[in-house]
Formats: sequence, C-alpha cells, structure tokens
Amino acid sequence: MELGQLTTDEAIAFENKYGAHNYHPLPVVLDRGEGVYVWDVEGKKYFDFLSAYSAVNQGHCHPRIVDAMVEQAKRLTLTSRAFFNSRLGEYEKFVTEYFSFDKVLPMNSGAEAVETAIKIARKYGYEKMGVTPDRAKIIVANDNFHGRTTTIVSFSNDQDARKNFGPYTPGFESIAYNDLDALSNAVKEENVVAFLVEPIQGEAGVNTPADDYIQKAKAVCAENNVLFIADEIQTGIARTGALLAVCGNCSCEGHCERQAATYTRPDLLILGKALSGGAYPVSAVLADDEIMNVIKPGEHGSTFGGNPIAAAVAIAALEVVKDEKLAQNARRLGEIFRAEMSKLADELSIVKLVRGRGLLNAVLINDTEDSSTAWDICVKLMENGLLAKPTHGNIIRFAPPLVMTEEQLMECIAIIKSTIAEFEK
Ligand SMILES: *Cc1c(COP(=O)(O)O)cnc(C)c1O
Repeated sequence: MELGQLTTDEAIAFENKYGAHNYHPLPVVLDRGEGVYVWDVEGKKYFDFLSAYSAVNQGHCHPRIVDAMVEQAKRLTLTSRAFFNSRLGEYEKFVTEYFSFDKVLPMNSGAEAVETAIKIARKYGYEKMGVTPDRAKIIVANDNFHGRTTTIVSFSNDQDARKNFGPYTPGFESIAYNDLDALSNAVKEENVVAFLVEPIQGEAGVNTPADDYIQKAKAVCAENNVLFIADEIQTGIARTGALLAVCGNCSCEGHCERQAATYTRPDLLILGKALSGGAYPVSAVLADDEIMNVIKPGEHGSTFGGNPIAAAVAIAALEVVKDEKLAQNARRLGEIFRAEMSKLADELSIVKLVRGRGLLNAVLINDTEDSSTAWDICVKLMENGLLAKPTHGNIIRFAPPLVMTEEQLMECIAIIKSTIAEFEK
C-alpha cells in the first residue's frame, strides 16, 4: 500500500482504530491545500473556514513560507541551544522589532509558550515584586483556553478539559471575563503577580468583550503593579483585523510606532499558531529586558525551541502578513461577513446572532445548548464545500485564511446562507 492513497473510509477507520480518540473530527479526509482551499482524498474541493484554529492565516502552503522551510531544511534543521545557530539571532532581531519588544523566548507549541509566560511571571514576582516565596498567584478568566498541559488545565473550567486530570496546580484564581470590577478586586489580593487573558476567547465561542475591556484591564493591572499577559495565540497575527487584538483599531500590519491610541501594550505577549503560517510549530513569548532578564541559563528551555527551520519559517510568515496587508484584508472582509450574517439573523430564527472581530467570527445557533444542530449544520456545510467546526453550546466559528478575496467571501456567504436556511423550522 502506497502512503497517502487511502480512501476516506479507510483513513477514518485507521485513525479510529490506531489513534487515541482525543478529537471528534468532521468526516472529511484532507490531502492537499492551497490558499483558502483544501482538497479531500477523493479530490473534492472545500473552502477552509477553520484555518487550523487560526494557524493558517497566510493561507495553505504559502509558497514563500514553504520555500523558506525547504531551503532551511536542506541546510540545517536543529542544533539545540547548546550552540548558537546562524538563523536564530536574525529571527530574534526581526520578531522583536516587528512587535516592539526588547526580547523573545522561542518555544514550539502554544501551550509551551503559555507555560513559559507563567514561569517568567512567577519568577519576576519573587525576584522583583517581593511576593512571598511559593505563594505567587495568577488571575485568569472563566471559560479561558490556554492549552492542554496539567498546569494549564488546572485553571480551566471546562469539565472535559480538566476532569480526572488532577491533582491540579495551585496558584491560579479564575474571575468572570469582561468584568473589570472582578479584576479590580482580584488584583488587590496578596501575592498576585499577573493577569493572563485572551483578548477574545476563541475556543469559548469567539467570546468578544467590550471594546475597551482590554485597555482598561491593562490599566487596572498597571495601577496595582500586576503583570498583564496577553495570550494572542489565536487572536494575533492579523486574525482580528489588526496585527494583534491588543492593537485595537490600528491595522498598520505592525510597523507603526505602536502609538495608536487604542494600543494596549502587554507586559508579556504570547504568540503561536500563525507565527509559522501553519507550516511548523513555532511559538514565542515577548517581553522587555526588565522582565525577560529574570530567566538565566539553565532555568528554562526546549530542545527544538529556536531551531533554524522555525526561525526561517517565522520570518517568512510575518513578512507575508505585512506584504500582503492581511490585517487590513481581515478587517474589511470581517465587516462584510458580519453585516451579511446579521441580515441572516434578522431573516431566520435559527440564527441568534453573529459576533467577532476581523475574520474571527462566530454564528450562534438558536437551539438548546445540548442539541446537535450546529454539528448537523457543519456536516451540511461540508457537503456543500465549506469546512467549519462547531464549538461549545451550538456555536459555529467562521475563520477562513486571511488571503481570501471579497469575491471568494461572497461565494462562501451564499453557501452558508443557503445551508443554514435548510435548518429553519
Ligand atoms: C490554540 C491555543 C493555545 C494552545 O496552543 P497549542 O499550540 O495547541 O498548544 C493556547 N491559547 C490559545 C488562545 C489558543 O487558541
């Protein structure tokens, strides 16, 4: 049997038999991707409206990113950090200038970068803030999603994510999202070192806070000498119509002086997913010297973190975002998408509302939380050539690659409208 020659049914049967059942995928087996499109093993073409949870913002198999990866793979793939490598310094200069921070700590997966930020914040708390030894506390938000490690699931309130994975890591307190009073109270408690938050909660169903929440939350943290940590693994890199969601309404692709009135500067910025355009696992924590310098040799690391392929791929991925003006495109197409979906919500009772920013949006289905309507709609969308995935509680997230054109978007909106209309009772 030749590799990659399985039929849909065979490929699914193999995954079911030989793979752990830690996901519940739609029954489609993808084999090829290009830009906003993916093709299944039978050759059927689809619009991708998940973009691998916003990792593929630059579109599938972007030639510049793939070329950078292949070229570097032929030259040098991994040295470990026991030695310097010829690409890492160049990448570190590039990425820190791109996001206007003094330093970067490179990792691979998003969860690793979140763990890294937690470690830096705790260490900074003990060494610079006078926090009582072993008592550091980090405030998080209800319904957060920050990854899957034992520590991270310890402060999740999603029962699927945490049940039977205890004992849980102490040192976290969860408060209501989008609630500044709750934050003001929490940061006044003893030994609080940081507030860790997503500017929009993607996995929770594109839970979008008040426009000024992030800016005011940072101000509350600053007044109380608490670090503000933004997890932009899903919202960052142009997804929400700005280079970062914390940029607010500035869509300059990251080369302004970051003086926009709406820009909220995190003390620690966590990136992943689209940092590589989906080509390779690349994540990062960015911070200024004062904070990053608490980490010294031997205190943190990763065999693959900062490897030459990751460095080359991330530079190419970030150049594509700037050169192709992806933030501006996401902003413009996002407005069209939400306007059209709002019309649909007015016309159909099955659609409750649409929410989101840029091209990170969700349509809420008007049905009981535990019904399978959103799933059934996604299966029908798949049959009609568009791939989207339901999230908790009858919500469908729509997040296409940011290289989409307006013409393609209108074609997709037509598919979504006619498919959802079939479910109107
Ligand atoms: C996906 C995601 C993570 C985890 O990233 P992995 O690469 O899956 O470990 C963390 N935070 C947010 C907001 C995410 O969307």
